[in-house]
Amino acid sequence: MRFKSFTKKARLHNPLKNFELEEQHIEYRFDPLTEESTLITPGRAEYVKKFFLGDDNTLNRFFEESKVGCPFCEENLEARAARFPADVVEEGLLRLGDVAAFPSLFAHAEYNAVIVLGKKHDLKLGEFNSSILSQAISAAKIMLQKISKVNPDVKYSAFVINYLPTAGSSVAHPHAQLLASTTPFNRLKLLISSSRRYFEEQGKCFWQTLTEIEKNLGERYLAKLGSVEWYLPYAPLRQNEVRATVSWKSSISDLSEEDTQHIAKGLENTLKFYSSEGIGAFNACLYSAQEDSNHFWCGLEIASRPGLKPLYLNDVWSLPFMLNSSEVFEAPEALCKRIKPYFTDR
Ligand SMILES: [Zn+2]
Repeated sequence: MRFKSFTKKARLHNPLKNFELEEQHIEYRFDPLTEESTLITPGRAEYVKKFFLGDDNTLNRFFEESKVGCPFCEENLEARAARFPADVVEEGLLRLGDVAAFPSLFAHAEYNAVIVLGKKHDLKLGEFNSSILSQAISAAKIMLQKISKVNPDVKYSAFVINYLPTAGSSVAHPHAQLLASTTPFNRLKLLISSSRRYFEEQGKCFWQTLTEIEKNLGERYLAKLGSVEWYLPYAPLRQNEVRATVSWKSSISDLSEEDTQHIAKGLENTLKFYSSEGIGAFNACLYSAQEDSNHFWCGLEIASRPGLKPLYLNDVWSLPFMLNSSEVFEAPEALCKRIKPYFTDR
């Protein structure tokens, strides 16, 4: 496994430093599995931070104004939620503890469930707890098992959370989605094909090797919670990115009760850290495929997004959006030092 990188310099006469000649270091890193490149430009971190922080007044107003008639609030849910056909979910709507799953009104995949994350409309980022997240992942697992019975060709799925409009969510009430399809999502397709190629070339599972190496190195490794390994990627694709992989499980359908709890716990830990840094929004994705777990393990990726405020700076500009190239403002080794306390017993 190769952790490939090189550093280049950009030279400029900086007006903020009396037009002295400045050399800025730009590190290129390449993902050890997919070989996707990432730029690490720590010089920009302080400059952009103020643009990415949210504003409490805007957030409170957003929750207040969206509360009236919210389709995901308990008092409106029965009347307004779409229902699955009876061959998929007999009752039309699946309830598990405090979460409810029903079809997305405008489907993004052949099978697309919205999973409402509890009854609290105005859930702040720091208030997400592992109990509700664990129930939501369990609901996704039950949904996926029901879908597989109706259509065994649905092999690819993702449990995603978009929290706040700056992360792409159009509904304020916190919710997740299960997307399930016979066609793999592009990122999933890349991860599966790269994992398979690694296994064929090396005779070993990439994910097992990666977690062993990261554990030994220690500088990006967070914790093992049950069978779930938490770490930071060597070449992050997104800001403040944390990842997890579930040992020897390829699909959400295969997760045990303990696995869902350990995924939920790591998510809660990460969100507590984000909250402590003033981060206001996030995207998370638990990707999954019916594949041979000798080469492919399901996993989770979570990253921060800009907080909500009237004029915010979107972090997806032309470099990632048009050129499909990533840039982060902090090396994962530095970020890891700050997150790690949230993964040790507190
Ligand atoms: Zn609501």
